[in-house]
Amino acid sequence: MDQCPRCGEKDQRYFIVNQRRSLCRKCLTYQGDEGQAVFAEDLVEPVLSYDLTEPQLKCSREIEQASRNGDVLVYAICGAGKTELVIETISSVIDRKLTVGIAVARRQVVLQLFERLKIIFPELVVRAVCEGHTSEINGHLIICTTHQLYRYHQFFDVLILDEPDAFPFSEDKTLQGFAKMACKGSVVYLTATPSLKMRNSVKEGHMHEVKLFVRPHGYPLSVPKVRTGLHYVQLIILQRWLAKRKKQVLIFVPSIYLGNQLMNLLKLDFVYAGYERLDERIRAFKLGEIKFLICTTVLERGVTFSGIDVCVMHADHRVFTHASLIQIAGRVGRSFSDPEGEVLFLCSQNSRNIEACLRDIQQANASCVSNQS
Ligand SMILES: [Zn+2]
Repeated sequence: MDQCPRCGEKDQRYFIVNQRRSLCRKCLTYQGDEGQAVFAEDLVEPVLSYDLTEPQLKCSREIEQASRNGDVLVYAICGAGKTELVIETISSVIDRKLTVGIAVARRQVVLQLFERLKIIFPELVVRAVCEGHTSEINGHLIICTTHQLYRYHQFFDVLILDEPDAFPFSEDKTLQGFAKMACKGSVVYLTATPSLKMRNSVKEGHMHEVKLFVRPHGYPLSVPKVRTGLHYVQLIILQRWLAKRKKQVLIFVPSIYLGNQLMNLLKLDFVYAGYERLDERIRAFKLGEIKFLICTTVLERGVTFSGIDVCVMHADHRVFTHASLIQIAGRVGRSFSDPEGEVLFLCSQNSRNIEACLRDIQQANASCVSNQS
């Protein structure tokens, strides 16, 4: 074979022949049933319990139109309401008896989206497909992890890829191959932090771009305050800053080692990917039972908290990429009742990523102001 039909691999070294069947070692471990298209009989009537804002409506229409003709990059700042922007597109694809799916990097986000979308589309079979949920894989609207896309070969007329810049999708060629092979029509990329490659693809005319730089409540993004100092200086600044906080705070650290250290020093809770009580602690924080929570980048995206401040320790550490700093800063000011919040970056020196993050946030805020005037 020239190319693996499942993951798109072209390197012959990965191909083996077993019992006269060609196999690809790149994606061999991904095994399971394949999906079949299901179409709705009636026209779809989405139910939203709130109205979209004028800018959201405009973007929503533009995405629906553009996705009929090719790939679309939806560049929407954190908290702009990305899911709302694609409801119209999803309805239109299903009404036209075509197939649509949403793929996201992380399992937790699949389950959250599933809960929201089955309320918005009460008449449709909405299907969440991810680890632990793979016995039913057919539906009118599929929401899956990018790991599960191999089940949908040349399947989607419109594939909505949420946060393609998120780990592990961003770094895994096999997952990217699955996405490519699963989509026979157009891809709609949703992101607050498009990669340079994507931005270039827009510039070169390969993709239509739809921008949304204003949150539904209309308040600008919080611009992070940056304070520099060595580790112990950062600790002192952090403690003084925490003492003044009235809101809940997420404190981001670059490593589990540092998180444990801080946890013991400040007597606070600490969560990270793989921590067995992760979900429980997140719930407790959401309920306001925990005031200050230390975390790794596991909480940089996907989970929304209302009315919090955030701090990043060692923001110049390589773990905190340009995209993750923007995501972390975007955790604050998410709700109508509390549209503003404080973001503090502590670092031993200003880094290129920190500067790029500040620049992007300021540009997004500036373009909102110029749009309104
Ligand atoms: Zn393969």
